[in-house]
Amino acid sequence: MQSVFLYLRAINFRMMKVYKFGGASVSTIERIKQTADILRAHKEEKILVVISAMGKTTNALEKVAEAFFDKRNPEALQLFEAIKEQHIAVARQLLSQTLRGQYDEAYNRLFSFFTEIEWLLHDKPVQSYDYYYDQIVCIGELLSTAIMSAYFEETGIANTWIDVRDILRTDDIFRAANIDWKFSQQQVDTIIKPLFLTNNIVVTQGFIAATDENESTTLGREGSDYTAAVFANMLDTKSLTVWKDVPGIMSADPAKDSNATVFDTLTYQEMTEISHNGAKVIHPKTIKPLQDKDIPMFVKCFLDYKLPGTVISNGH
Ligand code: ASP
Ligand code: MG
Repeated sequence: MQSVFLYLRAINFRMMKVYKFGGASVSTIERIKQTADILRAHKEEKILVVISAMGKTTNALEKVAEAFFDKRNPEALQLFEAIKEQHIAVARQLLSQTLRGQYDEAYNRLFSFFTEIEWLLHDKPVQSYDYYYDQIVCIGELLSTAIMSAYFEETGIANTWIDVRDILRTDDIFRAANIDWKFSQQQVDTIIKPLFLTNNIVVTQGFIAATDENESTTLGREGSDYTAAVFANMLDTKSLTVWKDVPGIMSADPAKDSNATVFDTLTYQEMTEISHNGAKVIHPKTIKPLQDKDIPMFVKCFLDYKLPGTVISNGH
């Protein structure tokens, strides 16, 4: 252990970054390739990559949870089957099935997640809806990151995949769980930091976590931004970049107001006000962990990474 700590001192975490890719960046094959291109251009840097579920997977999983809780088990299984097939199709399109390809390993990982959920879907609900919601919905992020990590690996981005439920601990307020900062920080220090001695890139899930009894929890819809900010805080990184399908934080909804412009800079305070005013750009809990450690957040467009985007900081 001692020697690991000596090596860790050699890694300057202040030079590290956190990247967050939302559901839109992994919603189509083309977008997944774009996401990988961005990461490949930065693979010499140490980056923790937080990824959401693909496209509208979380909404689809919510339907599975509802059907299960209403005791419509066959329907729940059928809805889940569609989600399974979608993910297998994406994995097939992205990953090579040759001996050296990543498909088999990724498929095995996907399969073990599928099996976990299917076991549950055969049961009868005896606990709260929110409990089952989290056990089912958490699978979206696990599936997307399993595929993405394999695709990164196959396209020359050496990385380590990690189940965030082994790192971020929460209470058991299902669907709105609160981070246990002390325990989670310890896990970041002893598990996440040493991973960067092996690979520059570590891939993990947004939005999900676990209780001290290893039950899955979620942090609230769109919570992946918050996960990314929690990691930036705990690793004390140089910055957090949230990659979105818009050119940055806009002054108004461009679909409704043709005069909408992109903010070049915003203060933490201004960004907090914008997100509390209901603009669905960044999860409102994201700013505080960044502000506490004075870590700037870049909001950039994954469709055109040359655009400057918006930088949110203390303003100095
Ligand atoms: N996949 C989750 C959601 O759709 C979390 C996120 O995207 O941030 O709410
Ligand atoms: Mg999302």
